[in-house]
Amino acid sequence: MSAPGLAPTPIPLTTIAELRQHHSQLVRLGLASHPSHARRLLAFLARDPSAAHFPYAARLLAHHPDPHPALFNPLFASLPPRDAAWLFALMLSLPVLPDHFTFPRILPAAAPLPLVAQLHALLLKLGFHSHAQSLNALLAAYLANARPDLASSVFRSGGCGSAQTVLDVVSWTTMVGGLCKLGMVEDAREVFDGMPERNLISWNAMISGYVKAGRFLDALEVFDEMRARGVEGNGFVAASAVVACTGAGALARGREVHRWVERSGIEMDEKLATAVVDMYCKCGCVDEAWHVFEALPVKGLTSWNCMIGGFAVHGRCEHAIKLFSRMEREGVVADDVTLVNVLTACAHAGMVSEGRHYYDYIVQRYGIKPKMEHYGCMVDLYGRAGLLDEAKKVIDDMPLEPDVGVLGALFGACKIHGDIDLGEATGWRVIELDPQNSGRYVLLANLLASAGRWEDVARVRRLMDERNVSKEAGRSVIEVDGEVCEFRCGSLCHPRAEEVYAMAKDMMRRIGVEGYVPDTRDVLHDIAEEERETPLLYHSEKLAIAFGLLCTRPGDTMRITKNLRVCRDCHEATKLVSRVFEREIVVRDRNRFHHFKDGRCSCKDYW
Ligand code: ZN
Ligand code: ZN
Repeated sequence: MSAPGLAPTPIPLTTIAELRQHHSQLVRLGLASHPSHARRLLAFLARDPSAAHFPYAARLLAHHPDPHPALFNPLFASLPPRDAAWLFALMLSLPVLPDHFTFPRILPAAAPLPLVAQLHALLLKLGFHSHAQSLNALLAAYLANARPDLASSVFRSGGCGSAQTVLDVVSWTTMVGGLCKLGMVEDAREVFDGMPERNLISWNAMISGYVKAGRFLDALEVFDEMRARGVEGNGFVAASAVVACTGAGALARGREVHRWVERSGIEMDEKLATAVVDMYCKCGCVDEAWHVFEALPVKGLTSWNCMIGGFAVHGRCEHAIKLFSRMEREGVVADDVTLVNVLTACAHAGMVSEGRHYYDYIVQRYGIKPKMEHYGCMVDLYGRAGLLDEAKKVIDDMPLEPDVGVLGALFGACKIHGDIDLGEATGWRVIELDPQNSGRYVLLANLLASAGRWEDVARVRRLMDERNVSKEAGRSVIEVDGEVCEFRCGSLCHPRAEEVYAMAKDMMRRIGVEGYVPDTRDVLHDIAEEERETPLLYHSEKLAIAFGLLCTRPGDTMRITKNLRVCRDCHEATKLVSRVFEREIVVRDRNRFHHFKDGRCSCKDYW
């Protein structure tokens, strides 16, 4: 073999043509199989193993005089499963035996389950079950195939069934993360609790697993445990914890986590910054969100979008639009989320002509192809303003088949503006597209009830029963002194239950003096979204407000998060409570924010 010194001047390898030229030079010089040259060629091919490159790489390997696993391994990770399997077969046929790097590289690439199972068998045969990294790749591959049973059996056997386990912290964390992804948080927790040691990735896997499952309070509990053990966090853990606070509507906790981030010197990267801004917006403190946003040294697109969207859902529409203009001046390129948020701002403020203007402008200026949600925004914009014909025209003219979101926007507008005919026609379509959503039936029944069409109301009710549509139970969450309390419609298993009931009754009596009349229209016809058997008094947000009154003083603000739309009666009652008891009450319901103050609501009774 010639000395490497005789090698041609290395030409840059950027295209396959250059590679071919370089390769032929090497062949002429008898250097083609020199290890460093071969590695360079293969490294190039591994970077872009497109259809054209793969056969070339395969030929190169097949004719290599001294093939070894290090030449094959880098290629596996970048190949589609079928090619990876084929290349692996080639490797074994040469014969080249796998080394410690082979299984960790090929298992993630081996998507289909039968292939994973075959590799598992081979791994056992060749004795790699005592190698932690190979085993971890196997666990991940089974979990990715939604086979927690197989992953668990490998995990439990510690690889080889012997007492000597080779599992490391990565194996445990892989199980926790994989089980969470499959929605098996309980099982994940069991594994997590049994971990002999944990690193930050393990903590984050459990915390974010709970967040994804919507179990925000459990997520925060794990986060607290982590800190109690003196583990220092990082940006990922912080972002998960902040998102948990957002989900739980736990402002005081959110503030506390935010302070902890600042104290621990964790870098506010874009993901974390956006999570914090979003937390303040969704917990009803748009001004605090603004302070955080303004203080960010670098503002990425998602932070801009988040802040604009925050202003929009709080009804601070002019702020949203001003911010959008500033974002443009600073040279940030808008995307389709920006468009949604700007349109939402216009819709919430009833600014129809501005909405129309921004729609045309953003679509053209940034070359955005309108998606379903943009049509939904336009329908919402016209619908809220009572321009139902315009709204319908958007739907008739749109190039896509409208989805339930778009039709739902029209349906909601018909309900608000009392257009029975269009509302009914749209309502039935919406129900067919979204048959398990109780809220849709309730809205249609309410619409028909408002026209006195009781037989049709009963028909909606029957359909709901026939289809076994279960209503989501009303839940309201209030945070007091950093503790989050959940109230469910009609039931109260709170330590201060008696006091809360007494307060609720007293509250209703006092607002009664001020002119409150129970709005039983929904309840009388069996169509309220909260449990129909439940008296209005026991709607979850009334209980949460009563509890809030016990724990706050006049002038204080209470913040409540509700899983359903606020009902008419609760909305009226809350307005009066804000005046009579001198509290500011911020309610986040399924659709938007309501700021109740001095007997009025920021939504102007339009929600
Ligand atoms: Zn209610
Ligand atoms: Zn309101």
